[in-house]
Amino acid sequence: MAKVGILKATYSAPGIERLLEPLGGIERFIEKGDRVLLKVNLLSAREPEKAVTTHPEFVRAVAMAVRKAGGRPCIGDSPGGTFSQRTLRKAYKWSGLEDLAGEEDIPLNYDTGVRRLDIPKGKRLLRSPVCNYVLDSDKVIALPKLKTHSFQYLTLACKIMYGAIPGLTKAKYHAQFPRRASFADMLLDVLMLVKPQLVIMDGILGMQGQGPASGDPVKLGWVLASTDPVAMDITVCRVLGIEPVGIPVLKRAKIRHLWPERIEYPLLKPEEISITGFKLPNTADHLLTGKKPPGKSPIVTDKCIGCGDCEEICPKGAITVDDEVARLDYSKCIRCFCCHEVCPENAIKLGTVKVK
Ligand code: SF4
Ligand code: SF4
Repeated sequence: MAKVGILKATYSAPGIERLLEPLGGIERFIEKGDRVLLKVNLLSAREPEKAVTTHPEFVRAVAMAVRKAGGRPCIGDSPGGTFSQRTLRKAYKWSGLEDLAGEEDIPLNYDTGVRRLDIPKGKRLLRSPVCNYVLDSDKVIALPKLKTHSFQYLTLACKIMYGAIPGLTKAKYHAQFPRRASFADMLLDVLMLVKPQLVIMDGILGMQGQGPASGDPVKLGWVLASTDPVAMDITVCRVLGIEPVGIPVLKRAKIRHLWPERIEYPLLKPEEISITGFKLPNTADHLLTGKKPPGKSPIVTDKCIGCGDCEEICPKGAITVDDEVARLDYSKCIRCFCCHEVCPENAIKLGTVKVK
């Protein structure tokens, strides 16, 4: 049986101690002197109020709890794009994590090294590079942001450890696993390989609509904690009124017998905070309407400044920046939406295009 703690919270009072009490307190997961990785969601260099990244005040609260228990917190993720110190520096700065790290003397990871690991029980991946910053930690506490995701519909606890895979390898896996189901299976392979000891979700300010980078911030006011990422994501679906098996990674988790038999809610119950009208990305309209999903494609709008980030990340070479504007070759595009995720200007929308 899995346990999921749910509480109402704000960034000035995130209630981490109370949230973790039913799970045995943070001391249950940490030994004195442990290097504890706080695996944040640091998709790209955005301000905290955009709700793209885990909020620094939420990270602060968890870091302080870790320190109180005798652990040594450090912060890390592999953002979209190249896994370089430059990318990390920019993302830490914009997300507010650089200021937090300075104020509280918390190390930020700048090690971009990787090791190749075998995944003997992998369904899709049998071997993969994995970032040193994850492997060199004694314990991992994952801090996902509650967000939508145009390709996988939601990005929650089951997807947070995808940041253990270095930068552009993530884009390569989009090309290798272009279908939602195979990609979801690959996410589960990674999760099983580097499963965090604890997941604490920042659902105080979430994202709805066209996530994970260009959706709309939405005030939700929740924090969740569990040792079971699948149970946590099922819980979020229940709160949002979404059928869990409609989310590809949860469907694959069910098929792979990774669903808990029962979920206990020692604090609030999902029905006590459930909401209606949460907006999914338009790629997931069918989850609400029951109709067959329309084929959405990325469309470059006139907000494009020609920065080239989408060209760099596209796993199929379907984008060329020419005359400071990105141009798409739809005959090569596999609709992975990596370009939509990384565009710093929100210049790529998803819609229906007639492909000749
Ligand atoms: S679409 Fe976005 S990421 Fe691509 S070149 Fe234009 S601004 Fe940059
Ligand atoms: S153009 Fe965008 S959606 Fe299409 S393959 Fe490239 S990154 Fe993926």
